[in-house]
Amino acid sequence: MANTKKLSMKQRYSALTRDLDWESSYVSEEELFPHTKFEGIKIHDWAKWEDPFRLTIDAYCKYQAEKDKRLYAVLDGFAQSQGHLTLSDARYLNAMKLFLQGVTPLEYQAHRHFGYLARHLNGPGPRFAALCQSIDELRHTQTEIHTLSNYNKYYGGLHSWSKMHDRVWYLSVPKSFFDDAISAGPFEFLIAIGFSFEYLLTNLLFVPFMSGASFNGDLPSMTFGFSAQSDESRHMTLGLEAIKFLLEQDEGNVPIVQGWIDKWFWRGYRVTALVAGMLDYMLPRKVMSWKEAFELYFEEQMLGGLFKDLEFYGITPPRHVEHAIAEKDLLSHQVYWTLYSFSFAAAFTTTVPEAGERAWLAEQYPDTFNTFYKPRWDKAQAIIDGGGRFFFQGLPQLCQTCQIPMVFTEPGDPTTLCQRHSVYRGERFDFCSDGCKWIFDREPEKYVQAWMPVHQIYQGNCGGPSVPEVLAWYGIQDGDNGEYTGSLDHLDWRRWHASEPAVASTTKES
Ligand code: FE
Ligand code: ZN
Repeated sequence: MANTKKLSMKQRYSALTRDLDWESSYVSEEELFPHTKFEGIKIHDWAKWEDPFRLTIDAYCKYQAEKDKRLYAVLDGFAQSQGHLTLSDARYLNAMKLFLQGVTPLEYQAHRHFGYLARHLNGPGPRFAALCQSIDELRHTQTEIHTLSNYNKYYGGLHSWSKMHDRVWYLSVPKSFFDDAISAGPFEFLIAIGFSFEYLLTNLLFVPFMSGASFNGDLPSMTFGFSAQSDESRHMTLGLEAIKFLLEQDEGNVPIVQGWIDKWFWRGYRVTALVAGMLDYMLPRKVMSWKEAFELYFEEQMLGGLFKDLEFYGITPPRHVEHAIAEKDLLSHQVYWTLYSFSFAAAFTTTVPEAGERAWLAEQYPDTFNTFYKPRWDKAQAIIDGGGRFFFQGLPQLCQTCQIPMVFTEPGDPTTLCQRHSVYRGERFDFCSDGCKWIFDREPEKYVQAWMPVHQIYQGNCGGPSVPEVLAWYGIQDGDNGEYTGSLDHLDWRRWHASEPAVASTTKES
C-alpha cells in the first residue's frame, strides 16, 4: 500500500492497465483476438495507443459516484417540489419523449458494444478505454431513465419507450443506425460511434436536447446533461484517439478509414434530421436554429478545424457533405412537416407553430420559410379553424438506408422530391439521397436485410391491417399521439395551471 501511494497517476494507470496485461503462450494472438483482422486494418504496435485520461478504476468509480450523488439530489428535489409544473410548457416534453424513445436505447446499445470491444481489441490501452466507455454508457442509460421517469407519472408518451424503439416507424431511423454500427467490425464501429457519432456530430445530436432542457425549465435533464458531459469529453477524445491511431499505424488504413468517415458522416447526419425538427419546432423556447447550430458546430468547427488537421493524414472532408450544407435551410421544415402529418402514429404530439414561432422561423430561414413552408402551415391552420386536423392518409415510402420517409428534395430544387434507386438481385430499392444510395451500393447485402417499418406493416407483421391495430402493437395509448392542442397533456397542463392562483388565494384566506 505504501508503495502505490508514491506512484504518480500516470504510473498507477500503467501499473493497473499495461502491467496487468500479458502475452498469451498457449493460444495464438489470432485465436485470442479473432475479430481485428478481417476489416483490412493493419496495427503494428498496439502499445502506441495512448489514453490521455489515464483513469484507474478506483478513481473512475469515485468521480462517477460523486456525479450520480449530485444528479439524484436534483431529481429528488424536483420531484418533491412538483418541478414539472415550472416547465416552459407541457409540449416541451415532446422533445424529451423523442429523446427517451430514440436516444436512450442507443446508449444501451453503445454500452453493450463497447463491452464487446473491451474484450476483443488486442491492446490493453484501447481495451481499458472501451471498458470505461461501456460503463459510462450503462450509467447514461440508467440516469436518463431515472431523470425522465418523474415526467412519466404526469404525461403521455414516456411509458413504453423501449418496446417502441424496436417497433415504431420514426424510431427505426436511430435504431437502424446503431444496428448497422454494432453489426460492423470493431474498427468500423470505433469510427462510426467513437468518431462520427461522438466527435463529429455530438454538438448536433446530444447537445441540442440538453440546451433545450436548460432553456425550457427542465432542470433534471439539464443536470443529467452536465453529468454526462464529462464522460462525453472522454468519449470524444477516445474517438479522436482512435482515428489518429488507425491513420498513424499504416498508410493502407487511410482509404479504409476514409470510406467509413464518408459512410458514417451521412448515416449520422440523417439521424440528426430528427434533431433538426426538434430544435426548430418542438421547443417552446428556442435555443438556436438548426441552421445556426449546423453552421457553428459543423461547418466552422468540424470542417474548418478538425478536417484541416486530418488533411495531414490524407483524409478529406466527408463525401456528400455539400448536400448536407445545401440542406441546412430545408431540413427541419421537411422533417417536422412529416412528423406533423403522421403524429397520429407517433408517441408524441405535434402542433402548428404559433404566430411568434412562425415569425422566428421566417427570420432564421429568410430564403425558404415564407416561400416554401409557411403556406403549408397556413393551410394546416385553416383546416384547424374549420374544425379539422390534417393527417396524411396512407403510408410513406421509406429510404432503404436511413429509413426516413422520402421527404427530402433535389439538391438545388426545394420543390422536387429527391428519389434515387438501385437494383440488386433483380429487386428495386429506393433512396432519399445520393448519400443513402452510395451507402447501399457499397454494401447492398447488408441493407437489403433492413427491417423497414412500412413494409412490415404491409406484410402483416405489425398487429394487423388497420391503424388502431398497428398503434396497439406499437404500444401507443390514448394521449400519447396526435395533435397537441386538446390532448390529455394539454388539458392537464391547463387544469393544473388554472387551479394555481385559486389554491394560493384559499390558503391565504384561511
Ligand atoms: Fe452516452
Ligand atoms: Zn436516406
